[in-house]
This record gives sequence, C-alpha cells and structure tokens, in this order.
Amino acid sequence: MSALVIVGHGTRSAAGVDQFTALVDRVRRRAAGSVGDVEGGFIELSRPPLTDAVAALAGRGHRSLVALPLVLTAAGHGKGDIPAAMAREQARHPGLTYRYGRPLGPHPLLLTALAERIDAALAGADRAGTWVALIGRGSTDPDANAEVAKVARLLWEGRGYAGVEPGFVSLAEPSVPAVLERLRRLGARRIVVAPYFLFAGVLPDRIVARSTEFAAAHPDLDVRVADLIGDCDALADLVLERHAEALRGDIRMNCDTCAYRVLMPGFADKVGRPQTPHDHPDDPVGGHHHHHHDHHHPQRHEPTLRPGQVAIVGGGPGPDDLITVRGRAMLHAADVVVADRLAPQGLLAGLRPGVLVVDAAKVPRGPSMGQDTINDTLIRHARAGKRVVRLKGGDPYVFGRGHEEVQACAAAGVETVLVPGVSSAVAAPALAGVPVTHRGVAHDVTVVSGHLPPEHPGSLVEWAALGRSRGTLVLLMAVDTIGRIAETLVAQGRAADTPVLMVQDAGHPGQRALPTTLDEVGELAAREGVRPPAVFVVGPVVALAPVAAVAAG
Ligand code: SAH
Repeated sequence: MSALVIVGHGTRSAAGVDQFTALVDRVRRRAAGSVGDVEGGFIELSRPPLTDAVAALAGRGHRSLVALPLVLTAAGHGKGDIPAAMAREQARHPGLTYRYGRPLGPHPLLLTALAERIDAALAGADRAGTWVALIGRGSTDPDANAEVAKVARLLWEGRGYAGVEPGFVSLAEPSVPAVLERLRRLGARRIVVAPYFLFAGVLPDRIVARSTEFAAAHPDLDVRVADLIGDCDALADLVLERHAEALRGDIRMNCDTCAYRVLMPGFADKVGRPQTPHDHPDDPVGGHHHHHHDHHHPQRHEPTLRPGQVAIVGGGPGPDDLITVRGRAMLHAADVVVADRLAPQGLLAGLRPGVLVVDAAKVPRGPSMGQDTINDTLIRHARAGKRVVRLKGGDPYVFGRGHEEVQACAAAGVETVLVPGVSSAVAAPALAGVPVTHRGVAHDVTVVSGHLPPEHPGSLVEWAALGRSRGTLVLLMAVDTIGRIAETLVAQGRAADTPVLMVQDAGHPGQRALPTTLDEVGELAAREGVRPPAVFVVGPVVALAPVAAVAAG
C-alpha cells in the first residue's frame, strides 16, 4: 500500500495553513483507495511539521514513501530545502526510502484554474479587452523564473486575452509595478493581476498591496487582483497525478536549462554546485537557514563534493561516456582535477573554465615517491578549500590504489567521497564481445594482477589454485608477464588449448582483440607487439560465439 507525504514550505499566514490542511484532506478523499495513506507537513514555520507527518506514516508501517513538494516551480524549496528536510527524516527513520515527485506546474489543470480565477475577477467583462499580469514568487534560479514566463505564454494561448505578461513579487524582474507599467504603456485599460501562487501568505498579500498602490496612482486604469489557486479539486487531482508519476519512476524534471547543471550566462557560480537553501531577503517567511544540501536531483540521492573534500572517482575504461552519472557530477563540481594517464582524457576537455588539471603521470616524483606526491597534491588542494577530484581509469578500488589515497586523506583529516567506476576487468572483455560469466559455462571469474611474474617472491597470487580452476581469469597489467603466467597455469593443470582473448585499448577507436590459446599467448603477444593497456581473458567464455558485439569507440 503506497503512502504519500505532501510537503509544504510553511507560512506565517493562518489562512495559508488552513488551505494546505484542507487540500491534504481533499487529496485523501479524492484518492479513494488509489493512495493508501496520505499525510501533509511543513518544513518550517507552520504545523504540523514534516517530522510529524513522516512519523505518522512510519508508525503505520510505511517504509517507502512518495514525497511531493507542494511547489509550482522547481526553485530553492523544491530543489534544496525540501530534499534536505527529507534527508533529515531518513536519518530519523533508518531504512526509510522515498521517491521525490516533481513540481506541480506548468500543467493544464493549473492553467484552467488560473483562467477561472481571472474570469471570476472579470465578472463578465470581456477577455479581449483584458491584459493579465501573471505574478510568480521570483527566484535567483533563472529556470524557475522561466517557468513563470512559460505559464504566462501558455495561459495566453487560445484564451483570447489581449496579452499575458509575467512578473515577480520578489527577487526577479519585472516587479509588480514594473509589469503593470509595461502593460499601461502597451495601452492596457483593464488589467487582471493573477498571482501564480497556491495558498495565502505574505507574498500574495504583497501582490495585492503593490497592485492597489499602482491602481491608486493610475485612476484611469481598471486593475483587479484575481484569487489564488487555493484548495480545489483540480489541485488535488494534480497532486494525485504527480504521485502516480513518482510511483512509476517517471519524473520528467526539466534539467536542460538548470543553472546547477548547465552554464547559463550570468550564473557561472551555480553550475556544478549543490543547490543551497535560498533566501528571499525581503520576505519574512523565506529566510531559510537549513544546512546545505545535495545536488538538485534529490531522487537520486547523489552525494556532492564540498570545498575541502576529495572525490576519488572511477572514470571507466576509457571512452568519455562510460563514467557514471555521479562521477560526472563530481567533475562538474571540481575546482582541481588530478587525472591518471588511463583516466578518460576527453572528460578533461569538458571541465568548467578555470579548473586546474594536474596530470598525475607528470607529477614530479623521486624513486618510489609517486604515490606520496599524488597524495600530497590531493591534500594540499583540499586544505586550500578546493573541491578536488582524483580521476582514475576503471574503478578506483580495482588495482587503482584508490584506497591508499583515501587512507592518506583520512590521516590528514581530509574527507573523501568514493565514486565507483566501470572496471576494465569486466568492461574490456565485454567491449570485445566476451562475457566474463555465462550460464553453464563459467560460474566464477577471478581478476588477477599480472604486474609480478608468478615466481616473484612478492606475489600474493595462488597460481596453483588458478591452474586448477575452470572458470574465467581476467589478467590486468600482464603484457610483460603473460608468457610466464600462461606457462605456470598450464604447468598447474590448466589445459594448454584453453581459449584466451587479448583485448588492447578497449573502448577506444584503436581497440584490438586477438584470440589465441594458453600455449600460444606469450608468443603471440610478443609477435603482435601488444602494448598496455590490455587485458587477457582466459577460459571457456572466450570460445562462446561472439554475437555481433558492437564495440564503442
Ligand atoms: N582501476 C583500473 C585498472 C588499473 S590497472 C580498472 O578498474 O579498470 C591498469 C590495467 O587496467 C591496465 O594494465 C590494463 O590491464 C587494464 N586496462 C585499463 N583500461 C583498459 C582498456 N581500456 N583496455 C584494456 N585494458 C585496460
């Protein structure tokens, strides 16, 4: 049985709280069994607090919720404050998970409701002689303001008003008086001010006050203010639609023009940064001081990179697009990137301007000093307050020395974030069309470093056991040692005709795959001039007929 928590931001207006509470009741009634359980709560200022709403649902056994932010556009509340509040609830209720619904607007139900409020204000006066000023809350987030402009346009389309112009009561231009003045100069005689607001509050009251002042200064103008959207069936149905959408996992947030993801003119300070709770400095209800929160895709629960932290990021086996979404977000946030030679180099070209790129292969190093120098570089930049990304090939914890860097940072008191990557151990065979396991063929896969030959006293590998095994072996860093390794495996019992595939530069345009057998691989590698990076796949999976594997690159 599904549970829905409707999350409001809170208001000092008693009427606003009543409207919210009435809407929650209405949603409960109209859900009529389609939603098991509905609660509503506020993140600040008003009762009941979100904490009580979540506790009520958790107390009735719900462990997975849909959390729906009751906001019209995705701005500070929807992107930052409400997810931050939900994160605190998750900390209070271990095991609690939630899907995050998207903002309510723009939506035809809202447009219809707005038109109804405007018609009510017109009381029979004609639409053709009426200009509408649609007034949004206003935000420092350009995408949120653009949403209001879009709603204004959609409201105009096909409804026969003389025109609809967007304006904002706080933080963005044009202000209420500015948009009214604009309409006056366009020749408007009758203007309906339509607040794009759900419920009563300080800001809607201010829209009325500014409009009344403007009207008093221009007695020749007919200025009317429409009602708020308010508690109504259309809004309840829209809430239920957003709930169903979140349950289906079908959340179409508009991220294409989000300043936190994309460089927008004038907003370079936001791109790649976590959404932080915002402030409406002139708004007594809007002074939010929650702690900083995650990146703005809260439904994915992405950790972010804060100043002074180091993210150890697996970049995947080589092509730029085999990094994880999380890894790429870390790169977008980085001030400094320390990159390995095997890290996907194309990603470095896409960094924000001004990001310092340190090539770890060129870090000056004395004998056996390389890793220490890299560790020092990470720690130095982190201590200088930079967001540092250590970009590695494949996965950082698969022969990547990632944990050495985590330990070194920890010893220096520097926090780290570990982002796993797609390891070449699995991806290089796959990109060459070979699965490392296959039902009925191989039930185990062993990933082995070949950087030391089998007879080396420092070797930690149980070569005798690998010789007895029938499963898949994937050998990394073995270009120089593959001949000795193959001999050892055969001497320890592995059949000499065991199929082997060498995959060099997997995923790159020059990818090369050479099939052979254990008794011939050493000679073949020398003859063909195989060079790192390459993996050797050993075992019966190699003999499976490759099925038109389309290699990337
Ligand atoms: N952490 C990395 C491995 C680092 S060790 C990972 O998880 O993939 C370096 C070895 O990885 C190379 O010697 C080679 O064996 C393998 N390797 C990395 N990238 C590769 C690629 N694109 N194609 C083939 N082998 C690759």
